[in-house]
Amino acid sequence: MSKIVIDKCHICGQNRELTWEHIPPKSSGNNRSVKYYYTFDVPSFGDSLSEAAQSHKKAFHVSQGGLKFRTLCSDCNNFTGANYVTAYSDFAVQLQNDLRNIRQAENLNKSLHFNRKIMPLNFLKEVLALFCSILPYYTVQKYKFADFVLNKEMQTFPDDKFDLYMYVSTTENGLFKFTPPMGVYNTAVNDFFAGAEISAPPMGFLLLFKSDKFKSRNKLPLPSIKLMNRNSYNEEVEFSFDLPLLKPSRAPLAFKNYSLFK
Ligand SMILES: [Zn+2]
Repeated sequence: MSKIVIDKCHICGQNRELTWEHIPPKSSGNNRSVKYYYTFDVPSFGDSLSEAAQSHKKAFHVSQGGLKFRTLCSDCNNFTGANYVTAYSDFAVQLQNDLRNIRQAENLNKSLHFNRKIMPLNFLKEVLALFCSILPYYTVQKYKFADFVLNKEMQTFPDDKFDLYMYVSTTENGLFKFTPPMGVYNTAVNDFFAGAEISAPPMGFLLLFKSDKFKSRNKLPLPSIKLMNRNSYNEEVEFSFDLPLLKPSRAPLAFKNYSLFK
C-alpha cells in the first residue's frame, strides 16, 4: 500500500499523487472489516482499490478497517471530507439506528418511511463524489460531475442526463457492492439500461444514465434524490423519505433482481 501512485484524479482530472480514502466515509460505518463485491473489473482502475481487491477471481473481497479506494488526490479528498462527509455520515448513522428497531427480513422489498434531518445538497454532493471515485474519469467528465461536486453552492446540474436513486441497503447480511457503469437488458421492463451502483449499507444508490434512444423508459421505480439540489449548501431540513429496504444481489445491476421489478 505504500507505493506512490500518480494518476488522474477522478474529480479534478489532474495528474497527481492519489491518496487512500474510505469509500464510503469511515464515519458512516465503513470502519470494520468489510466483505464486498466488485462486479466488474475495470482495467483503468489499476491499483486504485485496496490490496484485497486485487484478486478479482474471488467471489468476494475482504478489506480490513473499512473499504478504501485510491482514485482521488489529497485536495479533492480533503475538499469532500471537509464539506460533505458530515451530512452523509450523520444520515447513515441515523438510518442504522432506525434499522435496529425494524425486523429487516420481514420488511425486505417493502417501502419504509423516515422523517429525518438532513442537509440535502451536501448529502447529494457526497453521493456524487462517491460515484466519481468508482466511475472511470471519462464518465465523470462526460456528465460534468466534478463541476457540481467542487462547487459547494452550485444547485443546477451542468449535465442533466442522469438520474440518481436511493434505497435502504439492509444491514443484516448486507452487501457492499460497487458496479462501475455498464449496460443491462432489463427483462422485467423490457428495456436496456446503463447505470452504476454503490451499495454501502445502510444505503444504496443507483446512477442511471439517460438515453435519447430509450427516452420513454428512463425511470426506475425507486425514489430519486436529484431533487435534493433544491436546497442550498448547509441548509438543514426535515426530509421525508419513502425508501425501499433492499438486499442487493451479486448480479451486475441489482435492480434487475429486485422483486420490485418483477
Ligand atoms: Zn483531485
